[in-house]
Amino acid sequence: MSRPIINIGSINIDYVYRVPHFVQPGETLASQTLSKGLGGKGANQSVAIAAAGGHVQHVGQVHQSDVWAVEQLTAAGVGTDAIQLSSEASGHAIIQVDDAGENAIVLHGGANQTLKPDTVSSVLTQHSEAACLLLQNECNLLADSFAIAHELGVAVVLNPAPMTQDIIDLPLHLLDTLIVNQGEAQGLTGEIAIDDVVRTLRDRLPNTRLVITLGAQGALLAHSGKILECAAEHVTAVDTTGAGDTFVGYFLAGVVAGLSDQDSLARACLASAIAVTRSGAISSIPTLDELSRYKN
Ligand code: AMP
Repeated sequence: MSRPIINIGSINIDYVYRVPHFVQPGETLASQTLSKGLGGKGANQSVAIAAAGGHVQHVGQVHQSDVWAVEQLTAAGVGTDAIQLSSEASGHAIIQVDDAGENAIVLHGGANQTLKPDTVSSVLTQHSEAACLLLQNECNLLADSFAIAHELGVAVVLNPAPMTQDIIDLPLHLLDTLIVNQGEAQGLTGEIAIDDVVRTLRDRLPNTRLVITLGAQGALLAHSGKILECAAEHVTAVDTTGAGDTFVGYFLAGVVAGLSDQDSLARACLASAIAVTRSGAISSIPTLDELSRYKN
């Protein structure tokens, strides 16, 4: 088995309400359906790493009544020993989906926002063989985790989603790998055209492997003076939720398993294209078997 990826990531409970239109100020609106499920960018990415055959240890926190969420991650092949139970409400998202398929979301960070630096140090110390530390932007301790990993010599991979201004103040030049979508890349650089975005990021982070996902255009990777591109598969998109998380998990699992950057990129593009043909986030993540069946 490949070396573990340590993912310090959010675990959310998603409540999805189907409504005719988004609730208006002062209005009480009956929802047509409610579905409750596991989500959060951190959890989605851990499931994608496991689906890609990778070895992942998830570090996170949920309320003590949400053991089912931990069990679901374990069943998906994610290492859950470092997930803690808390008296804090689990992170949760209240998601309205209207008749046009658009969504509007209220996100409560809850237990995702009360992780402790000691937990990060002890997990990284216990897993000195880890291939890398993966971070998104839905938990507290981003700057602390960065610093602890750097001190211990662990490579850091950042997917700064959702993008916020304080990401810009992190020591991004220390990153092993940065994975961003187009909007995040534009937010980081202040540039609009993709060529300018890439040039600015390469100048600023010369030693970092840069991966930029481009939705239906696929993805590109810039590293060591080279640019690699991968066109997206032609598919009929049903729901793009979780496509980016599927991409991150598959890309990273590929690199850690020893695939070339180009092959890791190609596999991540294929997996995320399959994910957009299905609804949901975790439920849309394909297995490696599904990828090989798709290609044959
Ligand atoms: P995004 O976060 O929108 O950049 O999407 C992440 C990845 O999902 C992209 O790099 C593509 O590989 C894949 N993807 C997203 N949207 C589509 C689409 N409409 N068709 C095919 N692949 C897609």
